[in-house]
Amino acid sequence: MLGKQTTESWTAEGTREDLLRCFEDFGPCITALLKQAGNVRLWQLRDQDPLPTYVKGRTILVGDAAHAMTPHQGQGATQSIEDAEAFTLFNTPLNVNHESAPEILSKIDTVRRTRASKIQNITRESRARKSAEDLYRHNLYAWTYPGVWECLVRLEEGMEMIDVSSVDRGRLEECALDMLGMTNVPRVR
Ligand SMILES: Cc1cc2nc3c(=O)[nH]c(=O)nc-3n(C[C@H](O)[C@H](O)[C@H](O)COP(=O)(O)OP(=O)(O)OC[C@H]3O[C@@H](n4cnc5c(N)ncnc54)[C@H](O)[C@@H]3O)c2cc1C
Repeated sequence: MLGKQTTESWTAEGTREDLLRCFEDFGPCITALLKQAGNVRLWQLRDQDPLPTYVKGRTILVGDAAHAMTPHQGQGATQSIEDAEAFTLFNTPLNVNHESAPEILSKIDTVRRTRASKIQNITRESRARKSAEDLYRHNLYAWTYPGVWECLVRLEEGMEMIDVSSVDRGRLEECALDMLGMTNVPRVR
């Protein structure tokens, strides 16, 4: 349906004929509705490769500007909210001032970029959505974030930043399958 890729706009030009061709095997109540469409445009989904840093001096990128991803994992806004939580590092008894800001931002970068980059890569894998096992593995990581403080403590102690081994896997798996209406598929062990 995408006639022409755009570079500066989120949406590409479409036509009603293209739209109807894509939905030609749908019922008449749907096609009748689609025939009413006026300005047909196609929303293009774009993402980006993980960045080498989010920080420059006292500036940090957050949200989609830092880690744009497609909606296949429902993680774009989630990661933005996790970014916001990381600013709690400024709420510390340590000396926060003009000079110390870059160091604090660099700690935020260590945690947030590691985490969001992995989610970006997982999201790319999720486009194919191969099996319940892949889905489960991806959700296990996506839904297991202890927050910026715990991640930093774990890193300082030489541990994995995010430890999925302590998660109630059975419960998580049930949630994932339930979300997809896949309650009858065999459980992954
Ligand atoms: C179809 C779709 C489904 C999605 N589903 C999910 C989901 O289920 N779960 C999930 O977690 N995420 C989902 N997302 C992703 C989520 O919407 C984004 O990750 C999230 O909105 C990013 O937040 P943000 O604040 O970084 O950017 P945005 O929400 O894009 O906010 C940026 C703001 O900056 C403004 N702006 C831009 N340029 C300027 C300028 N020059 N001056 C001033 N203001 C400017 C924009 O108007 C906008 O309001 C989905 C996205 C899409 C497209």
